[in-house]
Formats: sequence, C-alpha cells, structure tokens
Amino acid sequence: MKNIDQIYINGEFVKPNGTERFELVNPTTRESFGSVTLGDEQDARRAIAAAKAASSSFARSTVQERVDILQRLSDSILERIDELAEANILEYGAPRMASVGRVKLAAGNLMDSMEALENFEFIKYIGKAKVVAEPVGVIGIITPWNASYSQITAKLGAAIAAGCTVVIKPSELSALQTQLLTECIHAAGVPAGVINIVNGLGTTVGAEFTRNSDVAMINFTGSTRVGKEIRRATVDSMKRVTLELGGKSPNIVLDDADFTKAIPAAVRSCFSNNGQACVAGTRLFVPEHRLEEVKRLARETVESIKVGLPSEADTVLGPQVTHKQYLQVQHYIKAGIKEGAELVIGGEGHPDGLEQGYFVKPTVFANVTEEMTIAKEEIFGPVLSILTYKTEEEAISMANNTDYGLGAYISTANLEKANELASRIQAGVVLINGAGFEMKAPFGGFKHSGIGREYGIYGLEDCLEIKTITGFDLTM
Ligand code: NAD
Repeated sequence: MKNIDQIYINGEFVKPNGTERFELVNPTTRESFGSVTLGDEQDARRAIAAAKAASSSFARSTVQERVDILQRLSDSILERIDELAEANILEYGAPRMASVGRVKLAAGNLMDSMEALENFEFIKYIGKAKVVAEPVGVIGIITPWNASYSQITAKLGAAIAAGCTVVIKPSELSALQTQLLTECIHAAGVPAGVINIVNGLGTTVGAEFTRNSDVAMINFTGSTRVGKEIRRATVDSMKRVTLELGGKSPNIVLDDADFTKAIPAAVRSCFSNNGQACVAGTRLFVPEHRLEEVKRLARETVESIKVGLPSEADTVLGPQVTHKQYLQVQHYIKAGIKEGAELVIGGEGHPDGLEQGYFVKPTVFANVTEEMTIAKEEIFGPVLSILTYKTEEEAISMANNTDYGLGAYISTANLEKANELASRIQAGVVLINGAGFEMKAPFGGFKHSGIGREYGIYGLEDCLEIKTITGFDLTM
C-alpha cells in the first residue's frame, strides 16, 4: 500500500497539519492502493509564506540560473520516466503508450519554457521609455486530474522562466503522481521555497490560494464551473487569473475530405485519454448526404479499438478515472438515448468482461441535434456525437453555437477553405487534417473555455508584469 503523508514546503518534505485521509483507488480494479493525507488551509498558508519569502531573491536570479533549473527539472523527470508512467497507469487507468507520452510531454514543456526564456527580451526600449518585464510574484497553480504531470510542468515552466515562485495544488486524485513529481523536483536542486506543493482539496487548499493576498496570480486548469468560482473569489484581491477550462470542441469534415482517414481520426481523437481530454472533438459535423458512410466508418473504427487493461501494450481505451466519472458518462449516454439520438455503437453499462473497473463502452451517437444535452454539455468520456449539416455556413454556425471555444478540427482537401474556416471558428486552437499540437505555440480558450494563454513564450508573458520607465537616462 502507498500511504502518502507529506507535503513539500521550503525545499523539504514535511508532515501536513491536516489529518483527513483520502483513499486512492485503482480505476482498473476498484481496489484501494493507499491513501493520502490532505493538507488544510494552514498548510496552504505555510506554503504561500515560503514562496513569498523566496520570491524577491528568485526574482533577481539570472536568466542562466533559471535556464539551468529548467534543464535540471526536465532531466530529473526523464530519469524516472518508467516509474512516473506506471503511476499514471495505476492512478488514472491511462493506457501504457499514452502514459509514457505524458511524461515526455511534461519534460518537454519545461524545455519549451527554457527556450522561450533564452529568447525573451526582458527589457525593451520604446520611444524614450524603458519597458521592463518583471515577475508577477507568487503564483498559485491549481490543476485537474486528467493530465497532472504535463499540466503542472506547463505552468511551473512558465513561472520559473519568469522568475516567479509557486505554490501548487494538484488534484487529490493524482497524489501518487504528485509524490513522484515532487521527488523529481527535489532531486533537481531548486532553491528552497521556489516550488512548494500541497496535497489537499480545492475547497480548502485551493480556496486559500485564491483568497490569500500574498498570491499574485492563479494559474488554473479545470472545469468551467470551478474556473468561474476562482474568478469570483479573486475579484477583491485583483489577482491575475489564467483559466484553462472545459470544452465541447467541433470537428468539421467537409465533403471533399478523405473520409476513410478523417472519420477514424475523429473517433480516435475524441477517445484520447479515455475520452477525458478538454480539447476532445466531441461534436462531429458531417454533410447530411454522407451520414450512412460516416456511421459505418465510425462503427468500424470503434470495433477496431481495444478497450482493456491499461497495462497491456495494445490497449487504446482504459477505464474512467473514478466511479463518479463512470456515472457521469452513463448519465449522458442515457440522456442521449432518452432525447432521441441514434445509438450507432456502444451504450450503457460496462464492456463485456470489464465489469471490475470503471470501464465504459466507447459510444457514438448519430442524428444528434443542437438542443440535445449530449451536444451541449462536456461529457468528459468516450462519447462522440455526430451532427449533420447541409451547407458549410450551417456547419460553421453550429460549430460556434456553444458556450465553449477551446479546440476545433477541420478536414478538407482544400487548404484555402480550411484556413478560411479556421478564421471563422471561435476556438483557441484549430487543427487541420489531423495535424498535431505545436507545444511551443499558445494554448487556451475563447468564451467559457478560459482566459489567458499557456505554453512557450505566451505562457512566460502571462507570468510577467510590465513596467514602463521614462527619464531613466539623462542623456535622452
Ligand atoms: P475541477 O474543476 O473539478 O478541479 C480542478 C482543480 O480545482 C482540482 O485541483 C480541484 O481540487 C480544484 N478546485 C475545486 N474547487 C476549487 C475551489 N473552489 N477553489 C480552488 N480550487 C478548486 O476539474 P477536474 O474534474 O479535476 O478536471 C476536469 C476538467 O478540467 C474538465 O472540465 C476539463 O475540460 C478541464 N480541463 C481543461 C484543460 C484546458 O487546458 N483547458 C485541460 C485539462 C482539463
């Protein structure tokens, strides 16, 4: 059993003041594999005090010192790649291949922040003014459970590059991954107090971060509901907030696309991370007259995907992360059926032979209309809704008919058309013809999907205050 009974403050592993224990459950077997002691508000305040005490000297650190720290952090993570990936499999039920990829991504984020830092101009001259970029101060980092390593390092990399100290509250569902990542951070030899990490609940530790006046900025990834709570909670203190929130991303396949590529890719990308991805293309828009072909291709793709034990090399889809998440997916599948969508494949309950864990059936609905619950709400599970359009105008209008605006996908043989549609879609990231993400480029959402941008140079800029100085040079 793994019992995690420590938090990380001022460069040391210490016992939390909080005593409440949270059970850690393997989603593949529903068996408990340990517990974590949750920190409380007092622990959050200790962490913030340590970050605050370290902040002025870290703000004066040189670019080279911070480059070296980022390099050591990245190396330190890669040194334990297998162990970190195993924890991802155990704790989230994430398939093996994806888990290794997640760890590499986490290390890569730090290297991207390092590159951004090496190329960044902290001082610019504009007219007779000197414009200086200064670290914003202590940053409170709050992350969800669906990709803990990479979300933490994206925010941590940006903060370190900017010269900011941090307090981090990862999801309590990621306690084992947090423990291992913290050990990597400790091994990297970061100055005491620069990085502090507290296990705990959002309503205690997270809420203390948002209200504490020594925290200058909150960098949050999670649901739109909690993002709004954080925005409200930070109004009086005027903290800066960066919010990476939920999504209901459209995937538009135009008539001239290669359907034999576009439809399988649409299904697979919707189901990535066991369907628990903020940027998943969960609404697939296809020309009305191609619907039968699309349904056939979608069904064949789902039949070719192995749902199974995440430890097995060829598994594509593992379980949902918790019982709550399992029930949420069931609720939406029921709603789809009740509201009259056509079940193409999948449906309620567990896949045969996988009753022991939180496995759900990968599910595709057709004849989904814009008013249906499954077309509007974020499901956060492997459920794809197919909607049809008659004209491209209609496709764009339906794609934008959502409160969200995180990702969008377009497939077409006509790149000019793709670029035109990209300019009209309200989303922070548009991927054309199956192209992947560029991790050095900004990521974030329009509308209810968020505020601010992360990664690379945009992530770094997000952690800086800008000061304009004139009269600094008497000769001017
Ligand atoms: P969540 O919003 O429930 O929790 C996220 C984090 O916020 C957790 O650490 C939680 O403990 C904390 N929290 C909860 N209440 C809080 C409060 N009042 N004050 C401060 N902190 C609080 O999200 P989740 O279920 O862990 O993750 C899934 C959600 O995250 C989905 O909506 C998904 O779309 C979103 N997400 C977005 C992105 C993105 O980059 N846009 C990436 C991944 C996940």
